[in-house]
Amino acid sequence: MNYNVAVIKGDGIGPEIVDEALKVMNKVGEKFHHTFSYTDLLLGGVSIDVHGVPLTDETVLAAKAADAVLMGSIGGDTNTSPWYKLPANLRPEAGLLGIRKELNLFANLRPAYLYEELKAACPIKDEIIGSGFDMMIIRELTGGLYFGERKTIEENGVTTAIDTLTYTEPEIRRIAIRGFEIAMKRKKKLTSVDKANVLDSSRLWRKIVTEVSKDYPEVTLEHMLVDNCAMQLVRDPGQFDVILTENMFGDILSDEASMVTGSIGMLSSASLNDTKFGLYEPSHGSAPDIAGEDKANPIATILSAAMMLRYSFDLDQEAQAVEMAVQKVLKDGYRTGDIMSQGCTLVGTKKMGDLIVDRI
Ligand code: NAD
Repeated sequence: MNYNVAVIKGDGIGPEIVDEALKVMNKVGEKFHHTFSYTDLLLGGVSIDVHGVPLTDETVLAAKAADAVLMGSIGGDTNTSPWYKLPANLRPEAGLLGIRKELNLFANLRPAYLYEELKAACPIKDEIIGSGFDMMIIRELTGGLYFGERKTIEENGVTTAIDTLTYTEPEIRRIAIRGFEIAMKRKKKLTSVDKANVLDSSRLWRKIVTEVSKDYPEVTLEHMLVDNCAMQLVRDPGQFDVILTENMFGDILSDEASMVTGSIGMLSSASLNDTKFGLYEPSHGSAPDIAGEDKANPIATILSAAMMLRYSFDLDQEAQAVEMAVQKVLKDGYRTGDIMSQGCTLVGTKKMGDLIVDRI
């Protein structure tokens, strides 16, 4: 098959880590007889430098025309880069929010997986980690508190700030369907997280998720309050398979889950719409402090490419081949600086990419 991938290398370490992911994609193509064609697009700081804006119509149109988007990361040093002297709507991050909105990417997937070989970096005690954990956090990305009406008013000398949390039934239903479909591809357990003891939006969330669950009888559904979930993530992370939650809860819980893995350079992510289309990117930022030094860990981006193979192209076997190659490299003792430990071999970005390619 031929797949058309829009490639946004972005800023900072973006070009370095994306180049390694493309090497891996090409090896997958060669080995499994697929062709991947790439269209390079500008977004973020590089787009500001060339076009004066972080996102152009050309980038939006070309991304929409592709089968999926693979992205590095965008943004610069927020203290020193001239991009941050611009108004907020012209800064690199505005480009990212803009493209997510244009592509209607409402489902954000962030896996949190503990590699046996990186257990030492996990801040949780060994007896709690047990045999490790492997969870997928699915966060609703375009609704809720972050997109509701907001205002600050002053009445009788008192300033009041108001944010609104709104969810419609269709918004909840579409993300719930996504959640159950993903649970079907995994261990078939879904934990829906809300605050239904307090919030109306959470009560609607719980009702719709329960309704959708009827179409997926093989998936075990449990409901959990968000405060309890925050606790359970550090008390017994191994209990989770898929966590499905709304925008703000997902924002907080996915950062907590990524911390318990202990290594930001390893964490991939996907943002999907209601078709097979998705934007795939590492969970970390553009790391301007190490850009251009061949020090960045390309694994999060390589694993994001594996997610693209699985979720946009339905190439499960190919995705697994990439994930197993990553695991093998770690087992063989190779590490970039961010995950380095005693007795391992320190390698740079390019070498890490080559080692993974060799093991596919
Ligand atoms: P960051 O994730 O870029 O860096 C935090 C720390 O982690 C740094 O020390 C960095 O060197 C290290 N790090 C990150 N990724 C690494 C990797 N792959 N390998 C090795 N080390 C790695 O976060 P930050 O410093 O807060 O942000 C830098 C820029 O990135 C900012 O402009 C921010 O807005 C942007 N950002 C972009 C995205 C995105 O593109 N989705 C996400 C987060 C931050």
